[in-house]
Amino acid sequence: MPSAGAYECDIAVVGGGLLGSSIAWGLARLGQKVAVLDEGDVAYRASRGNFALVWVQSKGLGLPDYAAWTKRSSDGWRGFADLLKEETGRDVAFARPGGLHVCLSERELEARAALLMRLHNQPNMVRYPYEMLERAALEKLLPDIGPEVAGASYCPLDGHCNSLRLLRALHQGMQAWGARYLAGFLVESIEPHGGGFRLSSKLGELRAAKVVLAAGNGNARLAPMVGLHAPVRPQRGQIIVTEKLRPFLNYPIVTLRQTDEGGLLLGDSVEEAGFDDSVGHGVISMLAARAVRTFPALASVNVVRSWAALRVMTADGFPIYDQSGSAPGAFIATCHSGVTLAANHALVLAPMLAAGKLAPELEVFSARRFDVSTAA
Ligand SMILES: Cc1cc2nc3c(=O)[nH]c(=O)nc-3n(C[C@H](O)[C@H](O)[C@H](O)COP(=O)(O)OP(=O)(O)OC[C@H]3O[C@@H](n4cnc5c(N)ncnc54)[C@H](O)[C@@H]3O)c2cc1C
Repeated sequence: MPSAGAYECDIAVVGGGLLGSSIAWGLARLGQKVAVLDEGDVAYRASRGNFALVWVQSKGLGLPDYAAWTKRSSDGWRGFADLLKEETGRDVAFARPGGLHVCLSERELEARAALLMRLHNQPNMVRYPYEMLERAALEKLLPDIGPEVAGASYCPLDGHCNSLRLLRALHQGMQAWGARYLAGFLVESIEPHGGGFRLSSKLGELRAAKVVLAAGNGNARLAPMVGLHAPVRPQRGQIIVTEKLRPFLNYPIVTLRQTDEGGLLLGDSVEEAGFDDSVGHGVISMLAARAVRTFPALASVNVVRSWAALRVMTADGFPIYDQSGSAPGAFIATCHSGVTLAANHALVLAPMLAAGKLAPELEVFSARRFDVSTAA
C-alpha cells in the first residue's frame, strides 16, 4: 500500500455542480486535500438551471427514509447558509417561510390531500407539520389569487434560496479551504491504482486515495469503472423568468416563486427528452398560463427569458449514495434535489466520506436496491 504522499490528493471529486461542490466544501473544511475535476462550461448542468427550492413537502412517498433525510437537510439549511456567509461573505438568500402547493380545482385539492395523507401514513414516516388550506385560508396568505384557485397544501419546512449564488459561494469556499478546482478536466477513465485511483483526462492524470463520483448524468458512464451502478437519466425542466416586481409573494409556491432580486420564476416542467435541453414554446405557454390562472395580475408582466435544464433522475426518483464493494474508497452521490440536500451533502455526507465509510442510515440509498433477482 503506497503512503499517503503517493497521491496528489486525499479525495478527487468528479463534478463541480451542486453535489460535487457541496461535498468538496464539506471535505475541505475538514482538512482533506481535495481536487474537484469538472468538465467545464460546456457541460449539461442541473446546478445552473434549477428552481432553487429547499423543499420538504411531498418528498418520500415509497421511501420514508428519504423524507427524513430531506427534513434533516431543511433543518440544517439555516446553519449551512450562515456558515457560507461567514466564510465567503456571500448571502445565498435562504429563507424558510414555509411553502405552498397551489391547486386550481377542487379535484386537484382532493388529490393533493390524499397524496399527502398517503405519504404521512407510511410506517416509520418522520413527523413534521403540514396543513391543507381551503381557499379562504389561502387568501389570507396570498390575497392576489385568481378565482380558479381552490386551495393549497402548506408546509412550514419549505423554503428557497439563490442557487446560483449558492454554487458560487461553494466554489469560493472550497477553494479558500485549499481545494483545487480543475476546470476542463473531463474524466475519461478511472482505474484502481496502488490502493487508490488514477483518473485520466485529455489534460493529464491525477492520483487520489479516494474518489467521489458527483458528475450528475455523467455518473452513469463513470460508475461501472469502479464497480458502482448509477441508473440515472436526464429529465428536462423548463423555467420562465419575469421582469423584477415589487415584493408581493412571501411564500415560495412549488411552481412559482419570487427571487430575492425581485423577478419571478415560473416553472418547472417535467419532460423525458433525453439530452435535448432546448426550450419549447408549447411547454412555456402552459407554464405561463398556469401562473396567470394562479395570479391573474401576472398577465401584464413581461417575460425576460426562459431556459431548459436537465435534472439528474434515478429510476425511482430517490438519491444514490454508495461505496464500491470491489474498489473500496470509490463513492457515488447523485440525486434530483441537490439544492434541498446541499446542507446534508456538505455537513453530513462529507464527514462520512472523509472517514471512508457511509453511515448505516444511508444503506437504503444504495443502488443495490435496483438489483432485480432473475431467479425463478
Ligand atoms: C429545471 C430544474 C429544476 C430544479 N429545481 C430544483 C429545486 O427547486 N430544488 C432542488 O433541490 N433541486 C432542484 N433541481 C435539481 C438540482 O438542480 C440538481 O439536483 C443538482 O443541480 C444536481 O447537481 P449535480 O452536481 O449532481 O449535477 P450537475 O449540476 O449536472 O453537475 C454535474 C457536473 O459534473 C460534471 N461532469 C460530468 N461528467 C464529468 C466527467 N466525466 N468528468 C468531469 N466532470 C464531469 C459536469 O461538468 C457538471 O459540472 C432542479 C433541476 C432542474 C433541471
